[in-house]
Amino acid sequence: MNSDKQSNLFDMTPEPWEIDDESDFLVAQIAFSEPPFGPWDYLIPDELEATLLPGMRVAVPLGGQKERIGYCVRILGPGDPNRAQIDRRRLKPISRQIDPEPLIQRDLLPLADWISDYYLTPLGSVLETIVPTSVREQAGTREMVFLSLDENSSRDWNHLKLTDQQRRVLETLAGYTEALTQKELCELTLCTTAVISGLRRRGLIVAHQRRVQQRTHELRPEQPMQDLELNTEQKSALAAIEHALVAREDKTFLLLGITGSGKTEVYIRAIQQAVARGQQAIVLVPEISLTPQTRQRFRSRFERVAVLHSHQTAAERAWHWQSIAKGQVDVVIGARSAVFAPVPRLGLIVIDEEHDGSFKQDQQPRYHARDVALWRSKHQRIPLILGSATPSLESYQRGLGHEYQLLHLSKRALDFPLPQVSTIDMRADFSQGKAIQPISKKLRQEIRQAIEAGGQVILLLNRRGYATRVQCPACGEAIYCPDCSIPLTHHKEGSKLVCHYCDFQMPAPRDCPKCGFQAIRFSGLGTQKLEQYLQALFPDIPSARMDTDTMRKPGSHEAALAKFRSGETKLLMGTQMIAKGLDFPNVTLVGVVNADSALHFPDFRAAERTFGLVTQVAGRSGRGPKGGRVLVQTFSPEHPAIIAASRHDYVGFASYELNLREQGWYPPFGHLVRLIVRSEAVHLALQASETIAERLKQAQATLGLECKILGPAPAPVEKLRGKFRFHILLLAPRHAADSNTPRLQELVKQATENLKFPDEVAWIVDVDPMDLL
Ligand code: ADP
Ligand code: ZN
Repeated sequence: MNSDKQSNLFDMTPEPWEIDDESDFLVAQIAFSEPPFGPWDYLIPDELEATLLPGMRVAVPLGGQKERIGYCVRILGPGDPNRAQIDRRRLKPISRQIDPEPLIQRDLLPLADWISDYYLTPLGSVLETIVPTSVREQAGTREMVFLSLDENSSRDWNHLKLTDQQRRVLETLAGYTEALTQKELCELTLCTTAVISGLRRRGLIVAHQRRVQQRTHELRPEQPMQDLELNTEQKSALAAIEHALVAREDKTFLLLGITGSGKTEVYIRAIQQAVARGQQAIVLVPEISLTPQTRQRFRSRFERVAVLHSHQTAAERAWHWQSIAKGQVDVVIGARSAVFAPVPRLGLIVIDEEHDGSFKQDQQPRYHARDVALWRSKHQRIPLILGSATPSLESYQRGLGHEYQLLHLSKRALDFPLPQVSTIDMRADFSQGKAIQPISKKLRQEIRQAIEAGGQVILLLNRRGYATRVQCPACGEAIYCPDCSIPLTHHKEGSKLVCHYCDFQMPAPRDCPKCGFQAIRFSGLGTQKLEQYLQALFPDIPSARMDTDTMRKPGSHEAALAKFRSGETKLLMGTQMIAKGLDFPNVTLVGVVNADSALHFPDFRAAERTFGLVTQVAGRSGRGPKGGRVLVQTFSPEHPAIIAASRHDYVGFASYELNLREQGWYPPFGHLVRLIVRSEAVHLALQASETIAERLKQAQATLGLECKILGPAPAPVEKLRGKFRFHILLLAPRHAADSNTPRLQELVKQATENLKFPDEVAWIVDVDPMDLL
């Protein structure tokens, strides 16, 4: 592969050993995680022929470099037609094999190929994502020296002159099948290290190095819990899944179940079936739902549960990963990247809250865990369960079209009705000429009532910081991040202005930096200000705030939730962090402080996100015998997303929104690809994006592809981290039988082949983007 290009990288004089022309040589294709990515062809030297396997890392010479680490992705034997075209004399040999066992599981190599192809990402960079850094770097392991008897020695020491101690050492070693460390041997024989060294010098004992785990972490089983008696809907959902498990069908189920309907219980029972058949399951949850509560729930039902998440130490993560690879784990729970967990006998994948944006990675490779899971499901012939109260419209549409099987859970498992939702029109206050209060009179009264009746309250405000706008009332100057086209947010703690995109910080000014006016205004409502406001309003109600600013310390999340659970805190306010997954039966009131905060973003998913967030947070109310209510403050009470959310009407919202999407080929009716061009110089970014758009149009004509090319246009966030951004959107209709039509990926590949821009210009491709800002 690429051998013409590759030859330029090497000095071409053949080495003496290269001259003999044996025909049974083996070629390994090696991919790198940095340019030049390859894969490139290398010769497998004789001594590695028996041990080298695809998925292992090797060290190879590259260009002027003596050693570069790469992944062996394929081995071409004599029978391979691709090998026939390779001239052995042009190949450099691999210098060294690094991993004794493949680092990439066999099933995952073709998956990596698919990701590389679909997301237009070099294979080496995909492989680097599949295996956590901690595993690659062998975190938590140590090289140790082990001692054993020389294998060739006769074990008959009678003819040798030995001291009693020396004899004892040799006999001890002979009694153990495993090698011992020096420390162990000294302890067992009550000898000093000098005795052992003497025996090593005489060649009777040999030493060898091996990597060992320094410490084992526990899988920590919880108090086991009994199965619950499933209700009718749960039973029929489970029956459908079981059928696919037994038949080894690669079926996808969309479990559309309202909040609290018992979806998790269905997952658990399905996983039990898989485990009983000697298989393992992967459960993906959004990062913020990976709470101790979630883990406990699985640990109380399964003995061997591994967790993969970003707050683990490298050593812990590597240990969990290795245990999974060894087949010592039944269930893996994790965030996005756990979809790559190397379970040996995968039986089932579950994605909870499948609509969640965190399943898409926002850096290369920009994969969506749901699509990776679909791939694994198809190729490993196992069922996949997607669960949500508010599924992504992509999944729902496939459910309607019978690509996925829709399963409904329409009632709450504990038979408590869904809470009643009312909207509060914030324009009313405004039109009466009153200054708008963050909390309307109605919501204030209901908070008071709920607390007095012994209930608890959750308030959602999806904006952190104190004031979200900093503006001079005299000249109108608003303060923006110098690096991003984003207004700065005032944070009272530390009295600073912060950019929520790049984390730029500056001291909060008192005077306007432009006109010098001496009372700059901090307006707009963030969670810090809300907290202060509520403390003044309800000094007697113990409250807590949860957002990324208050939850920085490890464990603070759990501590805050524990206090709320115990009733020590009565009022919990925060960002979307509190909207999902929490199950507190004593919560009788949920208030959405500003439902519109994301409704008018220039993103076609704005309504979907708003609907989802309001529905999710509403679902935190009324989970116990006291019932519950939800109040939604909004300036757009007539917006279909708000109306549908207040009626718990997913199906109604979906049909409204699907109708809009269909008109513009937007997902799920179309495929979307986004290209972003960035540069510190605005004209360079513009020029480059125009060049790409021009080439895309040419490629479209050549390929005869039905698609729209929108742009280039400045991205909604025009400037980010000091770079100007232009984007181009590609939209193509999604046909049921997609395979024969050239894909947008082909278009991008053709248009960007050999594309050269000045170093100051960078561009990226995002296939199926979730974020259009
Ligand atoms: P979801 O995942 O759909 O939000 P959960 O699985 O968390 O719902 O279930 C909500 C609550 O109902 C939990 O407390 C759970 O233990 C309980 N539950 C679920 N299924 C049953 C059942 N069949 N019988 C009794 N309680 C159930
Ligand atoms: Zn910024």
